[in-house]
Amino acid sequence: MYENKKIDFIKLFLIVFISIELFIILFILFKPLLSNNSLLQKNYSCSDCNVIIILIDTLRADHLGVYGYERNTSPNIDSFANNSFVFNNAISQFSATKGSISSLFTSTYASIHKTRKGSHKTRKGSVNRNFSLGDSLPDSFITLAELLKKNNLITHAIIANPIISSYFNFNQGFDVYEEKISGTNYDDINITSSAISFLNSERNKNFFLYLHYMAPHSPYYPPKPYDKLFSNSYSGEINFNYKNNDFFKSINLTPEIIEKIIALYDGDIRFVDDQINLVFRSLEEFNLLNNTIVIITADHGEEFEDHHKNFIGHGGYLYDTLIRVPLIIRFPGQKEKKVIKYQVELIDIMPTIAEFLNIQINHRIQGESIITMIKDDKIKSTFSESGRAKSIRFNNYKFIKDFKYDVSKLFDLEIDPFEQFNLISKEVELADELENKLYVWIKKNKYLEENIFVKNE
Ligand SMILES: [Zn+2]
Repeated sequence: MYENKKIDFIKLFLIVFISIELFIILFILFKPLLSNNSLLQKNYSCSDCNVIIILIDTLRADHLGVYGYERNTSPNIDSFANNSFVFNNAISQFSATKGSISSLFTSTYASIHKTRKGSHKTRKGSVNRNFSLGDSLPDSFITLAELLKKNNLITHAIIANPIISSYFNFNQGFDVYEEKISGTNYDDINITSSAISFLNSERNKNFFLYLHYMAPHSPYYPPKPYDKLFSNSYSGEINFNYKNNDFFKSINLTPEIIEKIIALYDGDIRFVDDQINLVFRSLEEFNLLNNTIVIITADHGEEFEDHHKNFIGHGGYLYDTLIRVPLIIRFPGQKEKKVIKYQVELIDIMPTIAEFLNIQINHRIQGESIITMIKDDKIKSTFSESGRAKSIRFNNYKFIKDFKYDVSKLFDLEIDPFEQFNLISKEVELADELENKLYVWIKKNKYLEENIFVKNE
């Protein structure tokens, strides 16, 4: 009798022991799956959180490590991305600063806000800054900052690009709009130090902080030691002459000079990456990462003769070098990386922030919340514009219509991501389909412009 009881006890003990072991093994095996699911199922909302947008002017997505670049240009952004959503196909709505930032701030396409024309004379390095040229952002639009201010967030911007200065009405909705526009790399250093003191003093309040870094914008003059960080075969110096708007057309761009220019551009990126890391460290130090959504992006990219001889810069064209921008979003307390392949647009950022903060948008916008898109697995087309062209990215294809020269181009982005092989005469049916979609979108914008977004000034 006693023996039997003993055997039963041993059996019971073994069953319990084996069950616990099995549970632990299964938990370890399936933990990654569980946590990935929870990342998508989690309700991404927080009424009480802060918002930070860090925008880096002229930053091509494919020049960051997190987007596959071979040079170590962005170790800090890359490691930040390890705990973030990384969007592989984030598309800017305009291939130059003013149009793009207007889209970001108003969640409308350039056809609607029509704030596009910058001034060449206002760019970094220019001696003769004429602030009176170019479009202003109309008061009739409700900007992201206005929306957030109305919902009781402190709104603060620190910017280094004069093209979006308060002179052009980009300060709408910001309590403070700090402009660091001396035209040197000190502007970015000053953005960082102002940002850190802002975070320090306002960390216990609800805030929206917008930082607009400038270093990767030409002229490419990274400070030491970033100027020599990336090797190249050209030993001479390049004196970027910005009194001359056609500077790159005026010099003989040999492959060695192009290589040097790219090495300098990459040095500027690394410089800005180190600046942003100081902001990351403050967020940690002030314990803000658990109650702040952090969004890192760019207004447009840069071409280095990728498609046209003597064209270094941005604007005009709509290749992915110019409109595919980084987009990295870290939700409060996020501890995992999630790569999202489907397309999103910069106009989606305003409704994403609104959904996250549980804010109702009671005016017409053109973007969609990325949170909803992720939950619903929604695939959408994206649209971009320049002063003379419009494009649609649909599935793996891109169709560009250049109205100035009446030229159309079609690229298969899956097999030809650098857009070197124009398929317009090979894939006639597909080109027609995309051209039709583009025209439907143009027509819709025209209707919206005339009936919904009526200017009231
Ligand atoms: Zn820009």
